[in-house]
Amino acid sequence: MEYKHFSHNHTLTLHNIQPGQQFQCHGCHLQCNSDSIFACWSCKFFLHEHCGNANRYVKHPSHKLHPLILMPSSTYCSGSFLCNGCGAPGSSFSYCCALCEVDLHVPCAYLPPKVSHRSHQHEIFISFQTTDEKGSHQSCKICTRELSSKHWSYFCDKPECDFRVHTFCATTEVKPGLYQDDAPDQVQAPVVFYI
Ligand SMILES: [Zn+2]
Ligand SMILES: [Zn+2]
Ligand SMILES: [Zn+2]
Ligand SMILES: [Zn+2]
Ligand SMILES: [Zn+2]
Ligand SMILES: [Zn+2]
Repeated sequence: MEYKHFSHNHTLTLHNIQPGQQFQCHGCHLQCNSDSIFACWSCKFFLHEHCGNANRYVKHPSHKLHPLILMPSSTYCSGSFLCNGCGAPGSSFSYCCALCEVDLHVPCAYLPPKVSHRSHQHEIFISFQTTDEKGSHQSCKICTRELSSKHWSYFCDKPECDFRVHTFCATTEVKPGLYQDDAPDQVQAPVVFYI
């Protein structure tokens, strides 16, 4: 079976990763070492299945004003963006709102709404809010580094717990298909399609 992705000129095949194999995903620059990847072997172009299947448009709870659009590369002259979710730079795929200068890594856009972490007895929930209490410098309860008030975090909603952590400390899980497609009125072709 062959596939076509809007970010790449050649057809892709779905490859089941064998134990010991490792590839770098072109969409998020993270390693893929389990499940399947979309591959163009001649270009050594690889995509996680979830990065390849990521919706072109997404209605994201962190930015309700506008749909976020999947861009194959950064829209900024510098060639990179700063993720509004985790604060780290990115230079590959992003979900962006050009009007509001919102940019998200694909894995950050699909972070699970709640996770369990062995360092805390309760489930923790994602917060897209900034924790802007003036003068309060919170640090992450897992890595102890500062929590930026501008970025997302996971927190325990129990009032007796003062537990807040970086998103990237809480989980590396990605939940593809978490949010509904928010395509504009005309019918959008799927991002990956069979040929
Ligand atoms: Zn990826
Ligand atoms: Zn290629
Ligand atoms: Zn991010
Ligand atoms: Zn916007
Ligand atoms: Zn942390
Ligand atoms: Zn708790």
